[in-house]
Amino acid sequence: MAAMPSIKSREMKIVQDIPISKTLQFWEGLKQGKVLATKCKKCETVYFPPAADCPKCLASDMEWIELSNEATIETFTHVVIRPTTFQQNKPYTVAIGRLKEGVRVLAWLTGFKLSEVKVGMKVKLVAKVSSEGNPTYEFTRPE
Ligand SMILES: [Zn+2]
Repeated sequence: MAAMPSIKSREMKIVQDIPISKTLQFWEGLKQGKVLATKCKKCETVYFPPAADCPKCLASDMEWIELSNEATIETFTHVVIRPTTFQQNKPYTVAIGRLKEGVRVLAWLTGFKLSEVKVGMKVKLVAKVSSEGNPTYEFTRPE
């Protein structure tokens, strides 16, 4: 059986339902160290993952904004049983953080011991390029 075309980064799977032409700027932003979201020019709702249209007011007039990097952990999970594509990884922690723009971001949380991770703690959202060369983003310890 032929292998299905696959994408290594978990983050890409999160936004996979968005047409690539509209997310190109998002991936370019990550390469430049910026985590971008879209903001509706009409009602000012911020979307992450970026959305091409605003479900609230049905406008398609969106602008790109760079998210602040300060997030507060709302929930997290420590993944010991990894999905097949992550068998080679060590157990990891995935968290949902809320940014001051009001959006929630799901990302890996790195730089902490599991015992240190608490709901409500402040973390930093950073853009990076993974060891496989994919642009990605994660939460980490604030400086
Ligand atoms: Zn809107």
